[in-house]
Amino acid sequence: MNDKAKPDFQTREIHAGVSPDPVTGAILTPIYQSTTYVQESVGRYMNKGYSYSRSGNPTVVALEDKITSLESGYGSACFATGMAATSATMMALLDQGDHCIVSDVVYGGTHRLSTRVLSRFGIRFSFVDTSDPANVKEALRSDTRLIFTETPANPTLKLTDIAAISEIAGARGIPHVVDNTFLTPYFQRPLELGADISLHSTTKFMEGHNVSVGGSITANSEELLESIKFTRNCLGSNMSPMVAFYTLQGCKTLSTRIRAQSDNAFKVAEFLISHDRVERVCYPGLDSFPQKELADRQASGHGSMLWFEVRGGVKAGKRLMNTLKLWSLAENLGSVESLVTHSVTMTHADMPREERLAAGITDGLVRLSAGLESADDLILDLKQALDRL
Ligand SMILES: *Cc1c(COP(=O)(O)O)cnc(C)c1O
Repeated sequence: MNDKAKPDFQTREIHAGVSPDPVTGAILTPIYQSTTYVQESVGRYMNKGYSYSRSGNPTVVALEDKITSLESGYGSACFATGMAATSATMMALLDQGDHCIVSDVVYGGTHRLSTRVLSRFGIRFSFVDTSDPANVKEALRSDTRLIFTETPANPTLKLTDIAAISEIAGARGIPHVVDNTFLTPYFQRPLELGADISLHSTTKFMEGHNVSVGGSITANSEELLESIKFTRNCLGSNMSPMVAFYTLQGCKTLSTRIRAQSDNAFKVAEFLISHDRVERVCYPGLDSFPQKELADRQASGHGSMLWFEVRGGVKAGKRLMNTLKLWSLAENLGSVESLVTHSVTMTHADMPREERLAAGITDGLVRLSAGLESADDLILDLKQALDRL
């Protein structure tokens, strides 16, 4: 044996949080499909303090423990969806009258939640280009209570320097939440870089097989974790045991999947650059990526997301998406199936056009999520569609 403080990521993604079922020896944590837990006597629970599955469920807790280990956190809470995780986090940490800084390029649903729902309750939001820490300093106000960043951001892949923004937040004593969905803890661990909360849509890479929608947060302190769990219980947005079970299995192959999918994304990006119908390609693994130094510094891999623009604008882009066969035209990312998305009409349809363009989400942007198929087949499919333009 060695004297390592903890096993490697690839060992923890399989074993952390899970131990053989004490009753049957089953190697997988069972799906504890039960609403309630019988009390031995008034106020005395039979085991571990479970009382009602909205506030806690053993299958969900196994997943929470696994994600805590992978993200190097204090503890985690899982949710019905990624947006449920974002809602509960913002509602737990912001009061009426508070100000929150959000990355100007974020998941469309995060923008919608901020501008269409939480702003109605008197919370104020500034959408800031967080890729430059000076912009964040400038946007800070006396009533700023939270900084929420997403990096790489959906869909432009703009990066935010997690350590620099965490330092700014820390100096003000306010939490920094990072949406870590695009890279997962295998490639990027925000808490190790100073952030307070790492958030996921587990729908994406963590579950990874297009089976279930879910979300998670991992906090670096008991205080933050308990406040978000309290809010989850009030909102009623806990993850279901079935979804936790699927996600527990998905997490076991996380590192293998995301490594192979990143390799595919890189090969696809290189092919696209070489095609004369392609105007522009963006992938953090390319030397041409504008924030390559930061990409290499804060993450150990570049992920499976990339985007490109074809010559001929929106019309050509739409024609291309309609002629792809192996790449499915669908909203989602990170799964084993390769997907293509037109962000402007799909994921970011609710964002006002001027704001979208200012954030670099152009009408012709074609977003790709490279799956786990053969890179050759993925490239052949793109080639036949591009050649027909
Ligand atoms: C999909 C996504 C979300 C929202 O997650 P859901 O599970 O769809 O609710 C949040 N952030 C990012 C970066 C996403 O890609």
